[in-house]
Amino acid sequence: MTTAVLSTFYAPKGTYDLIPPDSEAFLAVREAMAAPLERAGYGYVETPGFEHVELFFRGVGESTDIVTKEMYTLTTKGGDELALRPEGTASVLRAALQANLHRGALPVKLWYSGSYYRYERPQAGRYRHFSQVGAEALGAEDPALDAELIILAADAYRSLGLRNFRLLLNSLGDKECRPVYRAALQDFLRALDLDEDTRRRVEINPLRVLDDKRDAVQKQLTGAPMMRDHLCEGCKEYHEQVRALLTAAGVEFEDDPKLVRGLDYYTRTTFEFVHDGLGSQSAVGGGGRYDGLSEMIGGPALPSVGWALGVDRTVLALRAENIELDTASRAAVFAVPLGDEARRALFGLVTELRRSGVAADFAYGGKGLKNAMKSANRSGARYAMVAGERDLAEGVVQLKDLESGEQTPLPLDAVVAEVRERLGRA
Ligand code: ATP
Ligand code: MG
Repeated sequence: MTTAVLSTFYAPKGTYDLIPPDSEAFLAVREAMAAPLERAGYGYVETPGFEHVELFFRGVGESTDIVTKEMYTLTTKGGDELALRPEGTASVLRAALQANLHRGALPVKLWYSGSYYRYERPQAGRYRHFSQVGAEALGAEDPALDAELIILAADAYRSLGLRNFRLLLNSLGDKECRPVYRAALQDFLRALDLDEDTRRRVEINPLRVLDDKRDAVQKQLTGAPMMRDHLCEGCKEYHEQVRALLTAAGVEFEDDPKLVRGLDYYTRTTFEFVHDGLGSQSAVGGGGRYDGLSEMIGGPALPSVGWALGVDRTVLALRAENIELDTASRAAVFAVPLGDEARRALFGLVTELRRSGVAADFAYGGKGLKNAMKSANRSGARYAMVAGERDLAEGVVQLKDLESGEQTPLPLDAVVAEVRERLGRA
């Protein structure tokens, strides 16, 4: 392709292409996040990439940054108001309600994986198109369920070899104690010296102010009332149980009284995983309990808890810790044919090897021996399978061990079995 063509077609701002070999780490991260969920009885769910915009107004919240600033909305030719999904929870809950899953055995445990879209200011670790793996447990209020999800996320990070991450934990109270706290917080915040935007936030979404990253705001928050000092007995007891279950499972956490989610339907347990090698985009995942969300989108009371983990940032975290995953998608055998007859014979053997479960590749494009051997070496394959006219006349192919350099002639009909045996697959 010429440069002139390339310069017209760049990936849009805030997006990037996943390309081998980096894409391998991405797939491995997704799998590592999914595996503990599958073992814990979470079923896979997939929802559309877009929804009625109203679902996110209700299900994410009209006062949140996600909805007011970050959502990609569109009007279809038929006049429907849609939005590219900015997150997964609202869609998954909508799908579960629509399919009446909440009428069956509870909790309904679901996991998902996919692309999400937010119109953000692009920077390292912050994209306009990004990927999450998420999990939701719908319809049960049980501290063991909150603990289960947190443990599964921690186990996923650990299974990837990550060490420099921390779990921040808080409780947001419930509909009994939160309103009292919210009012106390508002009284405190109204007396501060804040800009107009923040003053408005104090009225709509006061907990979010605690989360403000600016020094000028943080300085004034010393002495602000904290939810943890206002929890009712029920919430206190619930939170203590979550903490005890995490401790028993060997999952370390830090109590963070300022960790919040702004909306009233988020209750009790809230948490975030941060990685210390990522600079300011440090959150690699987060979640919490959302006991009021179902009612917000027209469903019955359905206390639930869930999380979403950022795949892109987890890949960056692996890089920050210099972790190389053993992704092993390489060919074990690379076929190097010399001449047309050998092409046919080796192509057949490559197909047979693949069908028997051995990763195999072929020197396409009619390369000469030297270039074909270069490709074999570059592929990372353990063996080159070489044949020319003379070999075929003798009914053999040469199997060359690319590590030791040792070469063995093998009868055509013995190749697959021998390769499998050598690879420990027999
Ligand atoms: P942040 O505070 O970094 O904006 P968030 O609170 O908006 O994160 P959530 O909505 O909780 O994030 O999403 C869960 C995870 O998805 C985050 O912890 C992060 O790893 C990832 N994530 C969120 N937004 C982006 C983005 N724009 N680009 C890449 N990853 C993202
Ligand atoms: Mg955000």
